[in-house]
Parts: sequence; structure tokens; C-alpha cells
Amino acid sequence: PYTGPSAEEILAKRKEYLSPSLFHFFSKPLNVVDGKMQYLFDENGRRYLDGFGGIATVCCGHCHPDVVDAIVKQINRIQHSTVLYLNHAIADFAEALASKMPGNLKVVFFTNSGTEANELAMMIARLYTGCQDIISLRNAYHGNAAATMGATAQSVWKFNVIQSGVHHALNPDPYRGVFGSDGEKYAKDVQDIIDFGTTGHVAGFISEAIQGVGGIIELAPGYLPAAYGSVKKAGGLCISDEVQAGFGRIGNHFWGFETQGVVPDIVTMAKGIGNGIPLGAVVTTPEIAEVLTRRSYFNTFGGNPLCTAAGLAVLKVMEKENLQENALVVGSYLKKRLTELKDKYEIIGDVRGKGLMLGVELVTDRQQKTPAKAETLHVMEQMKELGVLIGKGGFYGNVFRITPPLCFTKEDADFLVDAMDYTISKM
Ligand code: PMP
Repeated sequence: PYTGPSAEEILAKRKEYLSPSLFHFFSKPLNVVDGKMQYLFDENGRRYLDGFGGIATVCCGHCHPDVVDAIVKQINRIQHSTVLYLNHAIADFAEALASKMPGNLKVVFFTNSGTEANELAMMIARLYTGCQDIISLRNAYHGNAAATMGATAQSVWKFNVIQSGVHHALNPDPYRGVFGSDGEKYAKDVQDIIDFGTTGHVAGFISEAIQGVGGIIELAPGYLPAAYGSVKKAGGLCISDEVQAGFGRIGNHFWGFETQGVVPDIVTMAKGIGNGIPLGAVVTTPEIAEVLTRRSYFNTFGGNPLCTAAGLAVLKVMEKENLQENALVVGSYLKKRLTELKDKYEIIGDVRGKGLMLGVELVTDRQQKTPAKAETLHVMEQMKELGVLIGKGGFYGNVFRITPPLCFTKEDADFLVDAMDYTISKM
């Protein structure tokens, strides 16, 4: 049993010693002391079904024994920077990752986070093209350092820093966007930005295929092929941010960009790929990767043996346990059940997403699509009381994000939906 400090004591310490900008879920925040596969346990040993851990960090389940084993073995051998010396872990994981990529995407740079991966990707695009202008989507989240905060396009995540050379294109949001599900119409805005806001040449374009922080928004069909077409014509590189949608989560494909049938020039990833261990990556072609030889590029911990051993173990577990297939089967079932809830409750305006990356948008008025922000928070709190954790997102804070570890079962899906059903029925 857990004998450490209580939630109240931790909260008091956080208030005194940690940044006042830290925020937490729930009015009575949860003290998570143990994790096992799709479950989290609090200080009293109470079990919670984790419907959100996938996005936070975990892909194949909390403390999956194979991943823990690989980490422990590696940390007992050597922990160092692998930039200056050789070690097999970084090379093995790079090879395994490259095998998951289409085309000539086979050169990997490792980082410690998604922000670092996107910063590097954007810098590579700028170096390769000699241009500055980058186009990203409104409502996007790509990180919180200078370039990535620029590419991020939600005011809540943007501080008053100089964000030069970024243009934000119309978001191809099928639910709220002006052109509905017509991806090509939204993509015209990318062409307009190039024509009217740049020299006609751009460094690149960055987007997710399914926006995570933005509220599980699947870009309208046909958007990426058209947008990529305009960007390529303007000499730019296309970057796919797979930090949330990538790595098998969406079920029918391993990467988000595959849902739109495009092949990016650069792919970035992080979060789930290390199953809780800080690990990010940028994958590109040999030709594009060459630009970093113009100067020295160094990342002390990027790709260190511990993190890359974890990454390789995650990929192996995904294959051994067919987790991508599980995401498809369980995710489709979960989406079907959530869609049935939508038929039952007016407050559910939209159910969307793929595989185990699902969103449920709450609105007080289906016609006006008025965000039901307070209700969203209320349902999250009540579901936590019933032992189910889900996340939220979207610009208006009214979208449930359901992104569990990929080992989620149909019984878990039933429990989650039943808890949501019960909670909404009591409102
Ligand atoms: N890209 C996307 C799509 C993300 O969701 C996030 C994190 N929410 C990031 C990049 C940044 O990753 P990190 O927090 O690891 O820097």
C-alpha cells in the first residue's frame, strides 16, 4: 500500500513550490500513485478506468511489463548521451521506426518532447527551403517554444512572444467550419495565404490529421491532398504532427496522415511512443536531413538508451498484442455506443474521431452549437466519482477527449459509456 503524502499535502507543496501556472483536472485533484495497464490507482487504492492516458503518455498500458522490463534492463547497463558514443538502442529504434514509414522517410532525429520535435521540423523546413513562412491551422496545438507557439493557434496557449513568419489557415472543421466537410474548399485558403501573404514561396505547412488539443477534429476529407499540393507548388515542405494521432491509435492506419492518403516530407511524434518516458522524434528523407550538417546539431538526451529502449519495447508490444487492430475494433465499438448516446441526449452535439481517439462535443443548443462548457466539466467530475477518467479539449472546453491506452477492452468501453450515460441522465 501507498504510504506517501496525501493529495492535500501534495497540493499544498505544489502551491508553495511549483509554478502558479500549473493546472490540474478536477476540483479535488486526483493523486495517482500506481498505474497498471488501463487502470490508475489513487492513494486509497481506489481504481479508475483511464480513458485519457493515451494522450498524456501511455500507448500500450500503464507500466506494461515488457516496457518496464526493457527500461530496467537498459538503466542497469548504461545511461548516457548517445550523440558522442555508440549504443545499439538508438540505432535499433530508429531502424524500427523507419520501417513503419512510407516512401523515403527513413532518417530519424530523436528529441525529448513533442515541442522539440516540431521546433526541429520547422527549422529543417526553413533551412531546406531558405524561406521563413510557415502555414499552420487555426485551432492547432504544436508546442510551447518560440516557433511552435507561433504555429499553435489558440489564444489560450499563446503568450506575447514574437511569432514571426507564421500564417494560420482556416480550420477544415467538419462540425463548426464554414464549408462543412468539403476539404478542398478550406484548402483554397492555403493557396490564398501563399498568393496574398507571402512571396509565393514558403518554408512549409504543419498540421495534425486529427487535432487533439483542438477537440478531436478530423480534418475534412480531401483537405490534406489539396493543401499539400499548394504548399509543394510553392516549394514548401509538408510536416505531419503525429504526436497524438500517430502510432496506431486511430486503428485503421498507423499514422494520421494516411487517412488522407498523403505522404508528408517530415513526420513528428512524441507522447505515447515512449509509453510514459520522455521521447520524441522527427523523421524525414535523407536528402532533407542533410541540411542539419551545415552546422552542429546536438541534443544531449534526445534518443538516449533508456528512452529508445522503451520506444522499441513499445513497438514490439504493439505488434505482439495487435494493439492497432484492438484500437480499431474497440474504438469502433466505443464510437457506436457514444453515437447511440447522442441519439438519446440533445446535449451531445457531435461524436467523432477514429479508433481510440474519440471526441464528444457538448452543446446547449444543437442548432446554434452553443458550447456547453460548464456541463462538460460537471460530467467529467461526476464520471471521476464513478471511477472513469476522461479528458477535455477544444477551443471552448466543451469536447470530451477519449484516448485510452490501446489495451482498452469492449467491457471498458461499456463501463465508460454507462458512466457517461448515467451522469448525463442525472443532469
Ligand atoms: N503536438 C501536438 C499535436 C500535441 O498535442 C502536443 C502536446 N499537447 C505537442 C505537439 C507538444 O508536445 P509536448 O507537450 O511533448 O512538448
